[in-house]
Amino acid sequence: MQLRTFVPTEVCLKCDRCCRFTNKVSPWIPVFSVKEVESILQKGHPASVFNKANSEEVSEVDVRVKVKEFEDFYICPFFDPEKNCCNIYPVRSFDCMLYPFLLVKKDGSVYIAVDKECPYVKRLYDQDEKWRIDKFVDFLARFLLSSKGREEIGSHPSMIAEYPGNLDLLKEIKF
Ligand code: SF4
Ligand code: SF4
Repeated sequence: MQLRTFVPTEVCLKCDRCCRFTNKVSPWIPVFSVKEVESILQKGHPASVFNKANSEEVSEVDVRVKVKEFEDFYICPFFDPEKNCCNIYPVRSFDCMLYPFLLVKKDGSVYIAVDKECPYVKRLYDQDEKWRIDKFVDFLARFLLSSKGREEIGSHPSMIAEYPGNLDLLKEIKF
């Protein structure tokens, strides 16, 4: 079973929301597994773009990218603001692929949540087409509980952040 993305690429390419952050340290900054970091380093990117991977030796379970200042906010080091796209799109992290869905912890349970500020998601809510989101979440829940999904979660433990309160909780996942 393979994860597929929810928002069509052509929609994301015209959007100015993802890959930008208001703070230097934030649970929204994507998490990369050791395997993903290794693939990226093999493509010639420096280890210094990762917060914990400051040498060629990557030994932590997962790491976040080190965001850089751009205008009055921060951007992912792999983001190209001129082309409005990701420079490592084929090897971007599982965390990035999941967006606008996120995994969050609340009262000891793990939920799939959605960022309603994503313009594509917002439009579906506004047009009474939330059923499209629900259908995808059913697929996502099956994926996350599959052996591949469990493997991805196991290699990105930091991506399950505490519920920040501004996301729509959609489905509890019982691993
Ligand atoms: S906010 Fe939504 S539409 Fe915009 S780039 Fe992110 S996923 Fe794509
Ligand atoms: S890795 Fe790519 S998709 Fe993920 S935040 Fe960075 S630029 Fe965006």
